[in-house]
Amino acid sequence: MRIVIVGGGVVGASTAYWLSRRAGVDVLVLEQDPTYATASTTLSAASIRQQFSTPANIRLSQFGLELLRTAPERLGVDPQFKERGYLLLAGDVGRDILADNVSIQAAAGAQTALFTPDELEARFPWFCAAGLSAGALGLSGEGWFDPSALLQGFKDKSKRQGAQWRTAEADGFEMAGGKIRQVRLRSGETIDADEVVNAAGPRAAKVAAWAGLSLPVEARARSVFYFECRDGVEISRTAPLTVDPSGVYFRPEGAGFICGVSPPAERDPSCDPSETPAVDWDLFEEIIWPTLAARVPAFEAIKVQSAWAGYYAYNTLDQNALIGRLPECANLWFANGFSGHGLQQAAGVGRGLAELIADGAYQTLDLSVFDAERVLDGRAVIERNVI
Ligand SMILES: Cc1cc2nc3c(=O)[nH]c(=O)nc-3n(C[C@H](O)[C@H](O)[C@H](O)COP(=O)(O)OP(=O)(O)OC[C@H]3O[C@@H](n4cnc5c(N)ncnc54)[C@H](O)[C@@H]3O)c2cc1C
Repeated sequence: MRIVIVGGGVVGASTAYWLSRRAGVDVLVLEQDPTYATASTTLSAASIRQQFSTPANIRLSQFGLELLRTAPERLGVDPQFKERGYLLLAGDVGRDILADNVSIQAAAGAQTALFTPDELEARFPWFCAAGLSAGALGLSGEGWFDPSALLQGFKDKSKRQGAQWRTAEADGFEMAGGKIRQVRLRSGETIDADEVVNAAGPRAAKVAAWAGLSLPVEARARSVFYFECRDGVEISRTAPLTVDPSGVYFRPEGAGFICGVSPPAERDPSCDPSETPAVDWDLFEEIIWPTLAARVPAFEAIKVQSAWAGYYAYNTLDQNALIGRLPECANLWFANGFSGHGLQQAAGVGRGLAELIADGAYQTLDLSVFDAERVLDGRAVIERNVI
């Protein structure tokens, strides 16, 4: 069975890793840019959390965690996992929802605890809890890591297991009888395929359109700012990835911190993923910095050193993964629309997709809640913790 994967970011690489472990499977990954200059994977905030409200999202991250912890033995790489937790904050009215989420997470085996504003200030003396009703802190299994190391680990191990990787841009499909027969490259060359995986990240809708399918996935720009703080040593040593009720987040990175926020809906257009996304500096000045300074008084005096922007593959239906097929094309498999949480889900999604393609059904984690077919009747997966 010849399986062609379009896109060699972390999702394509993970899928190649899981598929190439199987006998009788011939895997070819097409990646147009092996420097990953505009891939979401390498431009992400590179973090993993258990703090979701949907059990399937929690379980996916738990498997992502297991993979990170075992990456040196499984993949031969050290992803430099820093297990420092997420702190999700609730404003005046959010405490009950946060508490409800914590019980859902506990039922799924995650170690998250709810803290009062006073307890938060006692635990983090640099922190100001004004206007908050509670905070949920991950006590284990959350933090950040090196996304390039994880990607490279999947890639190299898949090659050692027999997967082929080619630097080439897929440009279309040759279809017959409701199936893809060949993948066409920009060079004009065609490649025979029994199954095709769409792992094109923010370009996923374009790939789906080659088979005449419509996928609700848009490229939406997200900016990340790196700053340093003169009085930030203790904060850097102890801070979790902290998410304000406004959506502004920050976490330690190197000698400083990274931070970001999703833009307001009216300033969040669908972009052309073939263009390099621009950093939205106004977001930092207008929203991020005032919020940071109110939450962490030492952040009144910070200096932005650099910034970058990447694309979310934004699922406009519900901002959750779209996995599986649509009825109109029997051999095009989606692993798309992860919005802001695909890096941590890549390990479990790659494994699940390999099971769907090779075994015909999920064998380990049941990911059917993320079935791509839900786009046909607009059945949204409601995830309260979207960042
Ligand atoms: C700013 C930012 C912060 C984020 N923070 C986090 C986080 O903290 N935690 C988390 O879990 N997730 C986070 N994410 C989301 C995460 O980065 C993505 O969900 C994940 O990396 C998706 O991986 P992918 O392989 O699907 O996409 P990508 O990494 O974009 O890879 C897709 C690849 O497909 C290739 N490609 C596309 N079209 C073609 C074609 N026609 N032919 C050949 N190759 C093609 C591209 O070159 C690219 O390399 C963040 C994203 C951004 C932008």
